[in-house]
Amino acid sequence: MISLAVKKHLRQAASLALTLVMATALFCQAATPAYADQKQQELEDKKNQLQEELNEIHNQQSANQENLENAQDQKQQLEAQNAELKQQVATISNQLDDIKTQIGETEDAITAKQAEVDQKQAEFDARWDGFKERMSSMQMLHYSGGIDILSNATNLFQLLNFTQALADISEKDEEVCQELDDEKAALNQEKQELEDQKAQLESQEATLADSQNQLNSTIDKLVANIQQQDATISEAEARAEALAAAESEKQAEFNKAADEYDSYLRSLINSSSSSGTNATLSCSLDFICPLDSYKYISCEYGSGGHKGRDYAAPGGTPIHAVASGQVITVESHYSYGYYVMIYHGTADDGNNYTTLYAHMNSWPPVSVGQAVSKGDVIGYVGSTGNSTGNHLHIELRQNGARINPALYIPS
Ligand SMILES: [Zn+2]
Repeated sequence: MISLAVKKHLRQAASLALTLVMATALFCQAATPAYADQKQQELEDKKNQLQEELNEIHNQQSANQENLENAQDQKQQLEAQNAELKQQVATISNQLDDIKTQIGETEDAITAKQAEVDQKQAEFDARWDGFKERMSSMQMLHYSGGIDILSNATNLFQLLNFTQALADISEKDEEVCQELDDEKAALNQEKQELEDQKAQLESQEATLADSQNQLNSTIDKLVANIQQQDATISEAEARAEALAAAESEKQAEFNKAADEYDSYLRSLINSSSSSGTNATLSCSLDFICPLDSYKYISCEYGSGGHKGRDYAAPGGTPIHAVASGQVITVESHYSYGYYVMIYHGTADDGNNYTTLYAHMNSWPPVSVGQAVSKGDVIGYVGSTGNSTGNHLHIELRQNGARINPALYIPS
């Protein structure tokens, strides 16, 4: 049993709240939220402060994400360059192997050629020795040893013939020696050509080795740079983790503040409607579609944890209140963008209903506390907040909990 005094007190409080809400409804048509009282202002300030802090965390997250992606891009480019250079080094390695083989072959050819030269020299020397012997025999015949040979020769004809033969032989010797000498010179020439070829190959080898060294030193620099990017990436990843933790903490704080704010406003509205003079806040549940026309439903409730319904529609399409009620939130939110919440009151099923309209194109043309009728324009389709294109995200709340809009709101 509630005492009369308490009843009177409650009635006074309700009447005060009603006055405040009525005042809000009548006079606060400006685009900024109106403050019903000190407590509402405090709650709203707290919520806005948390919103700002949350936005700051989101800014830091964006900047960090940008750093991370830059480092990842750079690393990818460096790795591509590195792979390209390694390919070049491998190609040069193959060329070097080829050249080394060629140098080896040329060296073998030089050795073989040298053996030929030596062989030719030996032939020449042998022939030369014979020539010298025969020349000395001839000299002996001409100048001193003539008598011996003469005494052995049977006649003059034989002696003359022998002398002629010696002369012929010496002429032949000379010819052969000349030929051998020429052949030796040709072999030496060929050997020289091989040595030139080897020198050329060695110079190519040096040039390639030089390029390879340069490439390897560039690769070393790239690897150092890649390690630097890796460090930046790990740093950014650690920071992203820390920021995500800070974000979820701040988000929880914000949600709590937003709930406190919303429930306070609802309590104001409830107390005003419970006085009986604000009978409009009983919800008949015969909601209308919030848009006169739209392109298509781009996302239904429940799809991937989606807690509302999305209507894809051109930017600027007017959004209508789906039922009569009282505006309880007009906010700019990082995720909802510009959004409005309308409290529709209690239905025959005993539950109270609230609707939320998000991603409006600009600050909504309604204010907190304002009474709206079913079909009133409360904002315009946009893509503010966490949105990738013009659409209306609508949520239906039953006793504050989000339920499927399809249950009551026609598409
Ligand atoms: Zn949505």
